[in-house]
Amino acid sequence: MSEHLSQSNLLAWYAESKRDLPWRHTNDSWKILLSEILLQQTQVSRGIHYWEKLVERFPTPQSMADADVDEVLHLWQGAGYYSRARRLHALSMQVCLPMEDGGFGGSLPKTAAELLTLPGVGPYTAAAVASIAHGESVACVDGNIRRVMARQSKRVEPTMKEVEVWANAVLYKDDAGDWNQALMELGATVCTPKRPLCEQCPVSSSCTGIGEPLLYPQPKKVKRKRLDLKCALRFDANGLPELVQRGSDGILAGMWGPPMDENLDVTGLDLIGIVEHTLSHRDIFVEVWHGSCHRGTEPSDVAISSLDRKILALRGN
Ligand code: SF4
Repeated sequence: MSEHLSQSNLLAWYAESKRDLPWRHTNDSWKILLSEILLQQTQVSRGIHYWEKLVERFPTPQSMADADVDEVLHLWQGAGYYSRARRLHALSMQVCLPMEDGGFGGSLPKTAAELLTLPGVGPYTAAAVASIAHGESVACVDGNIRRVMARQSKRVEPTMKEVEVWANAVLYKDDAGDWNQALMELGATVCTPKRPLCEQCPVSSSCTGIGEPLLYPQPKKVKRKRLDLKCALRFDANGLPELVQRGSDGILAGMWGPPMDENLDVTGLDLIGIVEHTLSHRDIFVEVWHGSCHRGTEPSDVAISSLDRKILALRGN
């Protein structure tokens, strides 16, 4: 049963087997926060690249608060889910407000409760940063931990509240940071969704689902949405494309790209292709229409999403 999960086995395994990730070499809560926000929706291998760029350019909350949000978006291009970059910039501005104005005077707050008041910080991120950077005795709950809990306890569809209760019950309070990372590492590298490596698992003796791990938890049925868009890819006499900045909402918020909309007027333009792009819950199909414009923009001067890069590539930009 889960209450017998061996803390010492898991911690020893983590000390021995953890991946060498750059944010595991720092106690700086700002740098740990950057890693947690990136990893919410970006794979670890790609996240390292973006984390290194962000940490180099924005080593402190103040350095990001002093920058324009467009610069943060520019660094974020290709990482996807651009609203994260906008919220991170808003977070840095709030952190750098004076205490009397509701800010934190330039330093990230230390407790999970205070971190939760910042833009873009949910319970998971608050618990991860507070426990890893400051050792606060608070349990993390994420998809990896949910999977470990479901298999350890033979639960088909545990709610996040139930996972939270379990995570608090098994929490190693003397080193919550390493403990949380150990459980997440187990879910990410051993108790994986499709091929759990039970024979290598340091907590297999307490696992009631070990015989048939793939039954736990049942995958959530995610309905994929289809989005059909039209895009006007127009170039000036120098071969530069017309680029506009997207509004502050939506999947490409704040990024730059050719004009694009579900009902874009493409009268007089020529259809040159269809670009397909897949996000986690969405399939996007873009009809690309070609034409000319008076004045384009140098693409390297602005933040461009992966989808827009695919569209520009249709004409060699
Ligand atoms: S024994 Fe297998 S199913 Fe159970 S926690 Fe370990 S890896 Fe996951």
